[in-house]
Formats: sequence, structure tokens, C-alpha cells
Amino acid sequence: MPIQQLQSHLFNGVYADVLRIDTIHPIISGNKWFKLKYYIEDCKQQQRKTIATFGGTYSNHIVATAFACKEAGLNSIGIIRGETIKFLSHTLQDAANYGMKLQYVTRDLFKNKQAIQQHFDNNIYWINEGGYGIKGMKGAADIVALSATEKYTHIIAACGTGTMLAGLITTAKPHQNIIGISVFKNNHSLETDIKSLLKTVHCSKPFSVNHHYHFGGYAKHPKELIYWMNELYSAEKLPTDIVYTAKLLFAVKDLCNNHYFNKQDKLLIIHSGGLQGNLSLPLHTLSF
Ligand SMILES: *Cc1c(COP(=O)(O)O)cnc(C)c1O
Repeated sequence: MPIQQLQSHLFNGVYADVLRIDTIHPIISGNKWFKLKYYIEDCKQQQRKTIATFGGTYSNHIVATAFACKEAGLNSIGIIRGETIKFLSHTLQDAANYGMKLQYVTRDLFKNKQAIQQHFDNNIYWINEGGYGIKGMKGAADIVALSATEKYTHIIAACGTGTMLAGLITTAKPHQNIIGISVFKNNHSLETDIKSLLKTVHCSKPFSVNHHYHFGGYAKHPKELIYWMNELYSAEKLPTDIVYTAKLLFAVKDLCNNHYFNKQDKLLIIHSGGLQGNLSLPLHTLSF
């Protein structure tokens, strides 16, 4: 997987590389391919024919699951939060095009996953919202296992459910610090959710999560964030997505400029993908 070294003044002279896993696949962009692969394998092994999972209107996980199921010859069902909307988001439109059956549930019902599952066939293979779970963690562990990453002192990644971060923590070397940047506002259970995954593989490596860079909440993209995405692209030719990686790179820039890192530190920033999410923006919002 390509590694891009950041060159510009934006990062205050701190050595920072970006692992471009966004480039591995145009649709199952980035971490979703890693997070899904062991679920798909398990589903096939159990000889089940249909995968169902949960997500919101802009969920990368939904569209990635739809595509991965199509590729694997499996049926897919997406349980979508919120009543049917007149116009499908780009994300849901794509998922539907890959053959996913979309079923809308109220926000209240969406919180009660068990009640939803009762209405479906017993043979369905369920994946948690966002791919949270042990198999997702194990898949994400392969992200850094596939590249030479020993030289880095810090590995930094965006967090939704924290599944990817858990995977990164399990493969990190003892000298490496793992930092997650949460894109949710007030996700107080994130650290606990990560720790409960780690516990299943007896991993007690410390990590930290920063909750200060959500820009107002999940998928919120105020003008400053759009400005930053264009500034970053023009300085580094690095495209980012509004939900995860733009906030991640902003956080790294801000921490660099606040002397959070030492000059001898070497950062590895995980570009986890998600660029398809930018298609929901009005045309010409972004310069890339
Ligand atoms: C889903 C996603 C994440 C978050 O992954 P988690 O394992 O849920 O923390 C990060 N970046 C991108 C681009 C994603 O699509």
C-alpha cells in the first residue's frame, strides 16, 4: 500500500507519513474492506446466503457491505436509521444499485437491534452497525501488518466504532503510541468499546482517544472543515473525506502546531478511505 510523506509547512516540521489505504479499492474504500473480510468468510463458511447490517444515510459501512456481498455472491439487507426519505443519499443509492435491500426503521426502533432481528429469518448472518466486533478488529489488524511500520513512534487513525483502532492496537509494537480521533460528539463509551474488543485477544496495550475534533458531530462539516480540506489538498495533493479523514488530518495538524509531538517523533496517519462520502456535497465545494 502506498505511503505518502507530508511535505508542507502545515504540520510544523513534524515527520508524518500517510498510509493510503483509501487507494486499495474505489468502492470498498479503505478500512471497510479490511473490517468486512472475515465476516464474509465466516458467513460463507456457515453456508448462509444473506448478510444484514445496520447504518445511517451516509454510512460507508452500508455501501461497502452491499458491494462486498455482491462480489461474494451473497444477498444483502441494510437496516437504515430513519423513515424512508424521498431522495436517497448517494451512499444509499449506490448500496441499492449493488443489490442491497434497504429497510427503513424509526430512530427509536433502530436503537433496539434485537427487536428488529426478530422479524427476520434465522439464517441471516448479522453484522453489527459499523462492523463493530472481533472479526472486524482482526481484519483491521492486517492494515499495518501488511506494511513496514516499525519505524513509527505514533499511529493515528479516525474512530467511529473504534473497531479499526482496536485492530491497530493489537498489532502495534511496544514502542508505538496509538491515538484515535473520535468523529462522534460525546461518544463516552468509545474507550470501553475498544477495551472490550481488546480483552477478547488478551491485549492490554495502552492507547489514547481524543474527543476534541468532531467539528460539531458525526458527518457535520462546517465551512472551516471544507476550507481545511481544500487547503490540505492544494498543499499535499491529499484528498480527504468530510466524515473521518479530514477531521483526522486537522487533528494531526493542530496537535503538531501545539507541540504535542517531539521533533524526533515519526507519525503514521491512517487514511482509512471514505472518499465516496464527499459525493453528497454540492458540486464544486471541493477542489478535488
Ligand atoms: C468506518 C470508517 C472509519 C471508522 O472505523 P471504526 O472501525 O468504526 O472506528 C474511519 N474512517 C473511514 C473512512 C471509515 O469509513
